[in-house]
This record gives sequence, structure tokens and C-alpha cells, in this order.
Amino acid sequence: MVGRRRGIKAVYPEPMRDVPAFRRKLLDWYDAQGRDLAWRVGPRDQARGFRADPYRVWLSEVMLQQTTVPHATPYFLRFTTVWPTVRDLAAADDGEVMAAWAGLGYYARARNLLACARAVVERHGGDFPDTEAELLGLPGVGAYTAAAVAAIAFDRPANVVDGNVERVVSRLYAVETPSPASKTELKSLAARLVEADRPGDWAQALMDLGATVCRPRGPLCDRCPVAPDCAAFARGDQDSFPRKAPKAARPRRHGVAWLIEDAGRIVLIRRPAKGLLGGMLGLPTSEWRAQPFSDEEAVALAPVAGPWRDQGVIEHVFTHFALSLRVYRAKAVAPRGSLLGEPDDLGALPSVFLKAARLGLKAPGSG
Ligand code: SF4
Repeated sequence: MVGRRRGIKAVYPEPMRDVPAFRRKLLDWYDAQGRDLAWRVGPRDQARGFRADPYRVWLSEVMLQQTTVPHATPYFLRFTTVWPTVRDLAAADDGEVMAAWAGLGYYARARNLLACARAVVERHGGDFPDTEAELLGLPGVGAYTAAAVAAIAFDRPANVVDGNVERVVSRLYAVETPSPASKTELKSLAARLVEADRPGDWAQALMDLGATVCRPRGPLCDRCPVAPDCAAFARGDQDSFPRKAPKAARPRRHGVAWLIEDAGRIVLIRRPAKGLLGGMLGLPTSEWRAQPFSDEEAVALAPVAGPWRDQGVIEHVFTHFALSLRVYRAKAVAPRGSLLGEPDDLGALPSVFLKAARLGLKAPGSG
């Protein structure tokens, strides 16, 4: 069945005719099966009058941008034990915060964390602002974090869209636009499900569905509370969403590497400081070009004359191209001033040269 939604040009299969009923199903599921997280005030505790602490919500969201829930949880517990409020964190020693952050990834995030805590104290008297617009004005707070804190801590009807939510929405609506071009479209679709009723729980319900049921691979549709509303499930191809743009084929380059053995040691060169593998050790090589090298060229271009023997080709994939590197081996006197390495010490070479050296050192006919 196909339906056209107001304000969105694309035509989607009709995933849900009744958004309020859809929301009810997902919120009921969240009430019964939402995750118990260290920073979360779940529906039962909310009913007992507890409210989410904006500091804890913000801190958890910053940590979760770096890592998974199981990895972030001990860090969260340590931070909130040592610095239980945003004022405590703002007054903390920079070095201590950096040390506590170690293992959580980019230190720039920890620096922004401190800058944000201090801005909350200096500009807002120690209380997090309660609107997306004001939250966005804080250091290191982007659109996602601002929406998450506004919804979860202040029950603002913000549209909170992380990778989990994008995946769920792409399946619910069977969105054909490949990622990342689909981002705006997914956000618009997610926005249609946000209402003023329980926006914080709604955001967390969608996140939980994505994290525990609508998983990246092998979604557990038989346990999904909204399976009857899901367009991808109806088609039976839920695993194929989110659609991905086909990867551009990598261009192939060809090169020659020369393994020169001088009295049992291997000639190495230090690569130019600038460029690919800059400043690293490697075997002497030709340029890496689009056309393969002939045997005559490989011998003529070799850094020394020798009884060159073709040892075969290794394949290596760099980010922007694939390399076929033909390896030649000869026993010869190393050019004056050469670096020489022991065959047993070649493990420190970049992997492309390690592969080439291993192939070069194989006895002829050893496969
Ligand atoms: Fe995801 Fe399956 Fe639920 Fe659709 S039915 S939302 S694919 S878990």
C-alpha cells in the first residue's frame, strides 16, 4: 500500500495509518522492557516523582558519542562519583578529568566537556538551559546532543535522531534513498512521530528499539512491538535497510618492489616525509602507476644490477586505491649508504612492505 505524507515529496509504502496507536505500542513496550541504564530515570521511577538530572543526561550522551553503553557505564559511574554535579565538574582539575577520560577516545571531547560544564556555571548559574536553542549555544553541544538533553531532561518535544533511530525509521518507512544522502529525509520522517506527550520517553523508546530489537544485522522482528506497522517487515527485506550507496570502485595501481639481499641483510629505504607512508621504512619501489610494469622495465629500473628473479605479486588496498606490487629478488651489493635490516626484524615495516618482503624472501617454488 502506498501513501503520500504532507510536507514530504517522496512516496513511501504506508507504514502506519494511526500514528497515536503506533506511539502507544512502542511506549507500552518501553514501559515494560526499556533498558535499565545508569543515567536513566525510567517510567516507574518517574511515576514515583523522580526526574532526570540534566547533568547526567548530558554527560551520558557525550560519552555515548564515543562508545557503547557497556563501555561507557563504568566511566559514567566514576565521573558522577568524583564529580556528582556540573559545578563539581566545572571546578575540577583539567588533568584529572583528562586522566579519567583516558580510554574513552578523543580528548577533544573531554576538553569540550570541561568547557561546557564551565559555561553552564558561568553563563547559566549552574543550571543547564532547557531549550534546544540555548543548549546549542554551549561548547561542544551539537544538534543531536541538544535535542537529546532537551527531550530526556526537560521533556521538550525535540526530534532526537541518532544512528539507531535512523535505522529504525529507514525500515519502518522502507526508505530507498541510500545513506548518507537520506539523513534529512529520515529526520523529517522521525519528526512526524514526535508529540508533546512523553517526548523524553519517546526518544529513549526509539533508541532502545534500535539498540535491542531493530539491530543493524538480524533485526528481531518476531519480538518487535511495531512489526505490523513496519514497511520493510511487510516486504520481508528488513535486513537490506538502511540502503547504502554502492561503493565507488577503487582505481588499481601497479608497482615493483625490489628485495636486495646483501650478506643476508635486506636493503630498506626511508620514504619521503610527505606522501603515502611518509617517513616510514620500506623496500625500494618504482612509482605506482595505472599500467603494469614489464619484466624488462622492472629489471631496468632496479636500483642495482643483479640476477633479478620475479617472486610474484602482492595485493594491498589503500583507502583510495588498490595496489598490485610485483616483487623482484636478487643477491647484490647494497648501494652505498643503504639502510640494512635483518630478515627477522621486518615486522616493523608497514604491512604493504611486510607482505612484499615475505613474498620476496620465499624460496622459489615454495608457493
Ligand atoms: Fe525493525 Fe523488524 Fe521492528 Fe521493522 S519489524 S522496526 S525491521 S525490528
